[in-house]
Amino acid sequence: MSFSPLEIVKLLPKTNCGQCGEVSCLAFAVALAAGKKRPEDCPYLDPEKLPSLGPSPAASEIDQAYRILEEVKKKARALNLAELAPDLGLTFEKDHLLIPYLDALVELTPEKARRQDGQELDPRDQILLYNYLIFHGREPLSGEFVGLETFPNSISKVATLRRYAEEKLAQAFEKDPAFLRKRLSLFRARELPGEADWAVEIWILPRMPLRVYFWEGEPEEGLSSEAKILYDRKALVYLDLESLVFCAERLTERWLGQD
Ligand code: SF4
Repeated sequence: MSFSPLEIVKLLPKTNCGQCGEVSCLAFAVALAAGKKRPEDCPYLDPEKLPSLGPSPAASEIDQAYRILEEVKKKARALNLAELAPDLGLTFEKDHLLIPYLDALVELTPEKARRQDGQELDPRDQILLYNYLIFHGREPLSGEFVGLETFPNSISKVATLRRYAEEKLAQAFEKDPAFLRKRLSLFRARELPGEADWAVEIWILPRMPLRVYFWEGEPEEGLSSEAKILYDRKALVYLDLESLVFCAERLTERWLGQD
């Protein structure tokens, strides 16, 4: 039996209760994927759901994420967090930064990052946050929003964005728009009246707003609903292309309640 740790984590309550003998749900997921734990070790995991996950690259995906995380943490140790905080719209308190990130407030030092609400913070999220600091963007945002295809060398990323974010959001919008509207309150967000059939602006990070535009489908014409994600024209000052796509992927997962 072989499953991705990141897929397993989605099936766990992320309370980090420790009843499985691991310090966190993520640690349990890694141990389970590596065959060091059994599904029964977590009383909250429904083993029936595991077979539907199918085969996976096992622990390699998360191992790689942890390796990258250690690299970005090393770079972060050279940063003066108190000095860069104002440029990035963050607050510095005693020894850590407070980072509004998606639906959470994250406490971050060069050694660790944790959500204040105690929920697990995926290593990929942590990499994104450290990258935001390392980039240390200083130019103001433009206020002009453009598609990812506007940025250089973005062809392959545009396809990823479409598959893992825009298509999923479009399907959710077609199936249950009220669900999306309701869960919008999780985020620092506002609706943009009069734009597309529905449009919202959501702040992933203090200098990283995304705009999501929705258009209703026309079933009688065989047309499905559409969604399009736009970034501030200066977004690459604050994060690299891959991180921009990850922002949209994570927003989608959190918005749809799929992580
Ligand atoms: S995996 Fe299950 S038992 Fe382990 S910490 Fe998470 S909820 Fe608790």
